[in-house]
Amino acid sequence: MKRIYLDYAATTPVDPQVKEFIQPYFDKIFGNTQSVHTFGQESYKIVEQARNFISKMLNCSAEEIIFTSGGTESNNTAIKGVYFATRNFAGKHFITSTIEHHAVLEPMKFIEENFQSEGAKVTFVPVDSSGIVNIDKIFENIRDDTVLISIMHANNEIGTIQPIKEIAERLKKINQQRQQQNKHKIYFHTDAVQTFGHMKVDVEELGVDLLSISGHKFYAPKGVGVLYIRKGTRIEPLLHGGGHEFNKRSSTLNVSGIAGLYKAAEIASEVMQEENKRIKLLRDKLFEGIIKKIPDVVVNGDMEKRLVNNLNICIAGVESESVLIALDNEGIAVSSGSACSSGSLEPSHVLLAIGRDPVLARGSLRFTLGRFTTEEDIDYVLEVLPKIVEKIRKISPIYKKTQ
Ligand SMILES: *Cc1c(COP(=O)(O)O)cnc(C)c1O
Repeated sequence: MKRIYLDYAATTPVDPQVKEFIQPYFDKIFGNTQSVHTFGQESYKIVEQARNFISKMLNCSAEEIIFTSGGTESNNTAIKGVYFATRNFAGKHFITSTIEHHAVLEPMKFIEENFQSEGAKVTFVPVDSSGIVNIDKIFENIRDDTVLISIMHANNEIGTIQPIKEIAERLKKINQQRQQQNKHKIYFHTDAVQTFGHMKVDVEELGVDLLSISGHKFYAPKGVGVLYIRKGTRIEPLLHGGGHEFNKRSSTLNVSGIAGLYKAAEIASEVMQEENKRIKLLRDKLFEGIIKKIPDVVVNGDMEKRLVNNLNICIAGVESESVLIALDNEGIAVSSGSACSSGSLEPSHVLLAIGRDPVLARGSLRFTLGRFTTEEDIDYVLEVLPKIVEKIRKISPIYKKTQ
């Protein structure tokens, strides 16, 4: 059976060029980057080449990035790292949005729940019905003791791109006033896991102090990522040990993973523009085809301020899980929302945050396209999906009720 993968937001395959590029870094160039001998020096060289390339792409200096094990670690380091570094003198208040990835929401909740007695507090600001964060609400909630604002660059479920630059510009004015009043700076973090390698991500243009990246979302291997830390940002490491990564993240470096992240970033910077044009055409074809062939479908999230590869819909009268399984039986892999929440029957926190009715939200499907998606793949989905939906709706008590 031909198998079609439309779940690129969950993870991507390693690009064949990346796979080839990293081969020597398992058994030929395998030294510890901290070793003085030639084996170590060769590993060190590729890591520093990677660091230089990624920092150029981000428009920062090489000393401002550290390699991590992925998006989850980068987000945890940004949030807990700032908390532990500033709690004793700057404040304990954090602001984030209700549509963040669990890798931001959970460390935030961890801080709030475990450090409540010392005054830790997190404010979760809402988004509008199109899935864009309410900027005014962020600024209404700033307090004297606010130390960090974390807003994702693009959402992993509905693909909406958040107004990071606008938030940073307003925050800059506030930070200038705070400086005159001798108050600590409010740091700004963005989870750019869904955008880096897919669109331009420039830390100066975005105006952020901390930014998270993950390799496996742009055709590099799993288990490698980056955290950008603006010079001067106070951050406590989560991992203490041999002092790697400028004393900010101890642990022997994942040389093959870092080499893969480097190669994947290099490919991305070359093909990004053309690739996005092609993927957007396919995504739009899928969207239009679904709307034409299946009645009672709504799209989730703004269609303009959105990643070009993302389509997230609610299909009235069906449970996502049954559609997902039926599609999988036909060789088509999609998601019912985020990878973390699928498998549970709870509707997605993102869809509830944009105000979707919980019953309708349980019929959500996320299609995310990528480098290896073809027009034939889309044609096949448009042939198979309407039949599946029709079959499920025939026996669905909820669909009849809403008619
Ligand atoms: C996938 C993802 C993460 C987690 O990254 P890992 O490398 O899998 O830990 C964090 N944030 C967003 C937005 C993601 O899509």
